[in-house]
Amino acid sequence: MILQEDIAKIFDATQIVDVISAFVPLKKRGTNYIGCCPFHNEKTPSFVVSPSKGIFKCFGCGEAGNAAHFLMKHEHYSYPEALHYLANKYGISIQERELTEKDKLEQGKKEELFNINEFARKYFSNILLNDEQGKAIGLSYFKERDLSDETIEKWNLGYSKEGWQDFYLHAKKNGYDDEILKLSGLTIEKENSKEMYDRFRGRVIFPIYNIGGRTLGFTARILSSSGKTKAKYVNSPESDIFSKGKVLFGLNFAKNAILKEDLCYLVEGNMDAITLSQNSVENVVATSGTALTLDQINLIKRYTKNVTILYDGDSAGIKAAFRAVDLFVEGGLNVNIVLFPDGEDPDSYCRKLPQEEFKSYIKDKAENFILFKTHLLLEDAKDDPFKRSNLIKEILNTISLIADQIERAAYIQQCSSILNMKEEILNNALTKVLRERLLSKKKLEKTQESSLDSEEKQEYIPEISPKKSQKQILKDNFPDEQQERSIISLLLNYGDKETTQKVIQDDNTEKEEVFLVCSFLIGDILSDDIVFDNPLYQKVFDIYKEYILEKQTLPNLSVFTANEDEEIQNLSASLLMSNYKISDLWGEKWKISVPLPQNSNTINQNVKESLLSLKLNKLERKIYEINEKIKQEDNYEDQLILLAQIKTFKAIKKIISSELKRIITK
Ligand SMILES: [Zn+2]
Repeated sequence: MILQEDIAKIFDATQIVDVISAFVPLKKRGTNYIGCCPFHNEKTPSFVVSPSKGIFKCFGCGEAGNAAHFLMKHEHYSYPEALHYLANKYGISIQERELTEKDKLEQGKKEELFNINEFARKYFSNILLNDEQGKAIGLSYFKERDLSDETIEKWNLGYSKEGWQDFYLHAKKNGYDDEILKLSGLTIEKENSKEMYDRFRGRVIFPIYNIGGRTLGFTARILSSSGKTKAKYVNSPESDIFSKGKVLFGLNFAKNAILKEDLCYLVEGNMDAITLSQNSVENVVATSGTALTLDQINLIKRYTKNVTILYDGDSAGIKAAFRAVDLFVEGGLNVNIVLFPDGEDPDSYCRKLPQEEFKSYIKDKAENFILFKTHLLLEDAKDDPFKRSNLIKEILNTISLIADQIERAAYIQQCSSILNMKEEILNNALTKVLRERLLSKKKLEKTQESSLDSEEKQEYIPEISPKKSQKQILKDNFPDEQQERSIISLLLNYGDKETTQKVIQDDNTEKEEVFLVCSFLIGDILSDDIVFDNPLYQKVFDIYKEYILEKQTLPNLSVFTANEDEEIQNLSASLLMSNYKISDLWGEKWKISVPLPQNSNTINQNVKESLLSLKLNKLERKIYEINEKIKQEDNYEDQLILLAQIKTFKAIKKIISSELKRIITK
């Protein structure tokens, strides 16, 4: 928890050019700096940093934000981590929220858990490498699997002896008490006799690390054939530091390679991950044999949006892959899949093939998941009409999980050709699936949170049409998008400038008066009760309004560019940079010019024009809505009232239109 006033201090001290040039080479151009964008591939620079505004924007991919946002995006920091980095860089001392006694106790306990796990990791590793039993059973197992000494050391693999108390006695001798040993799950207390015994016995040990490389717990595999009745794998139990569904085996080693390749290979078994990593496929993580969770998907998403699943080719592997695929799609990731020949898993196949051959196998055989699923199910269904209809349902279900409408449309197109079905039919069926999901979701929410305002829960059901552009979608959602955006842009860019506007006085005569742009815009919009369609714009408007009306001061731009709401950060950074244009004036030389209003005349005109266009749009919609109402109204008198309303609105519309025309043609 960092105090708000400290956050303000951090942003006051932060020099954004300084921060970014530690990662991206920047060149000065006019008042700004320019470089090649680190977030997309480009050869000509379109990444602009404004030191005066403390923000950056890429004109290629649209990424924009403040220094903390840059660090979050580039270094994959969390927001607090980015703030700490900046505080450190600029020598700002942060007063963390006072830790309560309870917090301190909990933190101490976590630290103790890390310590005992580190201690155990070293112990198991020592047994594997130096103990007779460890060498004969554990080490020879890893050697049979072709693991090198370096690999065994890198992953800190270990072995636990077959006795009941080997580890327990060693830990006691080193001063660890029963309490923490029980808490870590490394030893277990017998219920009746209170006797302690080791959880891991006669097993090879795989330490599980967090992203920072600290030991969270262990997975242990049984080797002896006498253990047929025992579980093949045993894990550390859930604790304050370890939760199986929240870690991915090998991520601490793989994260840089994942970033570099912009791709993550996902395998099931720990040995798969270790073997691949040893054979120079380093961007690989394992689910450790557990079912994939959303938390794990979010972990991967911090590094890349591209995942290739490497699963066994048997039916269990395919089933697991199907399940994983739906989760990934829902999480917004691009998923490919590679299946191995029957009887092979990634580990065995990787050891069978020469390194380069294996690498090209997983590259070439990677198939898009939806097409993979469609082909596979089609093979199974053949011409059986019942099976075919189930197959279509199944595929549409997966496609419906894709959040991006354009992407969905592309898949529908591909599936229509594979299945030899009309796109239109698939589209209609998909709309049905989407509607059903929405309805059942609403029903669920209703029962869960019946107290919540139902209007808040209203959700937009997208129409399925492959030809719609992103802009069109935005327009469908927020019909006055463009007009609203220009108002917010004026507020942020010129809110503190002066503007001369005509006002009508009490005696109906016109008079010119000088206002601040922000006061004029906000006053005018409030007096007409205008509400923004796009809730994000409304939020920015409300923040600005609060400063002007309640705090009676102009907001610092960092109120928006360093807002805790990331959407506001992005929007404001984007709008504040939008009046810069990059053009190549002299061949190779890239220059930034400022084409938007600079003098008071253009500001005056822009303010008027934006307000009038917004009002005109809102009026047109109002008139349309009333017209629709009239069609449904049976009562003649009510119809007349509505008609009268339309008449009034049309009269206002006429005045606004002619005023707007006058301004534009002036
Ligand atoms: Zn970019």
